Amino acid sequence: MATNSFHCPNCGSADTQKSSLAYENGLSDINTRSTTLGLFSGRGGLGLGAGRTKTKGSAQTKLSQKTAPPAKKRYVKPLIFIILAPTLLNLILHLLPINIPNNIGNGLMTFENWAIPLACVAWIYVARSYNTKQWPSLKSIWDKAFICLRCDNQFVMDPH
Ligand SMILES: [Zn+2]
Repeated sequence: MATNSFHCPNCGSADTQKSSLAYENGLSDINTRSTTLGLFSGRGGLGLGAGRTKTKGSAQTKLSQKTAPPAKKRYVKPLIFIILAPTLLNLILHLLPINIPNNIGNGLMTFENWAIPLACVAWIYVARSYNTKQWPSLKSIWDKAFICLRCDNQFVMDPH
């Protein structure tokens, strides 16, 4: 299959490249520059997230950022946030020079006791259904997508 024979529907340029190739080409630059990122990605969502943020800031090419594949919903980071956010809120409330009446404080704790597990379960459900239902079709579109190197338009030749 000749990957360069597709014309951009936006500007008509034949200077197009497969998005997945453009993305990987931009990434291979990073891997040669910093090998420590590989260690991060082995440890799951949190480490992977930290690794990716770093790469974007430093070495990933602009073209590679534009052609990044659709991201799956993460589990670890949002769950940590859900669990820690009320604790942080409590800390802040305790640091403030105000007295929270006991009944309100207890009410908050009771609320958190069922709201936190519920929010965790809800997030896992949302993330799971996105990752299993919506993400595969986005990924398959990305697999077929091209980017125009002249106007940055991304397009799919076969929408089916
Ligand atoms: Zn174009």
